[in-house]
Amino acid sequence: MRFCSLGSGSAGNAMLLHWLHEGRDRHLLLDCGFSERELAHRLANRGLSIASLDAILITHEHGDHLGKAPSISSKHQVPLWSSFGTLRPLLQSPLGGEPSFPYRRLQPGACYALHGLTVEAVAVPHDASEPVQFIFSLGGESCMRPLRLGVLTDLGHASRHVIERYKHLDALVVETNHDVDMLELSSYPAALKKRVGGDWGHLSNLQSAKLLTAIDAETMPCVVAAHLSRQNNHPDRVRSTLHQHLGQSFSERLIIAEQDDGFDWQIVKRR
Ligand SMILES: [Zn+2]
Ligand SMILES: [Zn+2]
Repeated sequence: MRFCSLGSGSAGNAMLLHWLHEGRDRHLLLDCGFSERELAHRLANRGLSIASLDAILITHEHGDHLGKAPSISSKHQVPLWSSFGTLRPLLQSPLGGEPSFPYRRLQPGACYALHGLTVEAVAVPHDASEPVQFIFSLGGESCMRPLRLGVLTDLGHASRHVIERYKHLDALVVETNHDVDMLELSSYPAALKKRVGGDWGHLSNLQSAKLLTAIDAETMPCVVAAHLSRQNNHPDRVRSTLHQHLGQSFSERLIIAEQDDGFDWQIVKRR
């Protein structure tokens, strides 16, 4: 199992997961915050096309994650997976009848199978309608435990439920949205600062560091910091905050996702 990002931040998010099942390549897209043309271009840079996707998973309805997913799903008949809260407005066609795209309704807390991959939808605190984040597990035969990859962006705080579910991972993509001091000093209107920094907004570098400590991420082989704010954060701030809490070797291994290029393929290795 390996994963990469096609772009990460409030201007658009999309991650790719690739695994093998019964001798065939399988791919899923996690979030789809780009136009069809832009998505096709970014997939082509990785040697893929929209038709090569087995499913599109959407975490929540904010534009930087949902993008044009329903029309892309409809045109290419790639199933769209998300919670009912995310799906509900998309299913309400003005003409009535069934929506034109294939979909699967996910129950937060439940696990789903996709070509040998187990997909767990985890409820998270964020100001959207029934937002979820995901944990992917693969393998687990011959007495080996499965490989586990967690993805956790767009959450206002690390709830006890989130900490419990995101323990014992081999790889993690985690939000480090803003630096608290940079947000405080930024030109954002007061209401937006309150929303971003609030319990239902986005995770700060410090909150992320505390979460990573709580789930024993020091020894995790691969951690990616993602969904950085362009105005209110800087990769140096992310690295130094995580260095303070998790140590030098952790901060040296840390990968930081970029808005334009995301990050390159990372192979999930057992810790
Ligand atoms: Zn977002
Ligand atoms: Zn969001």
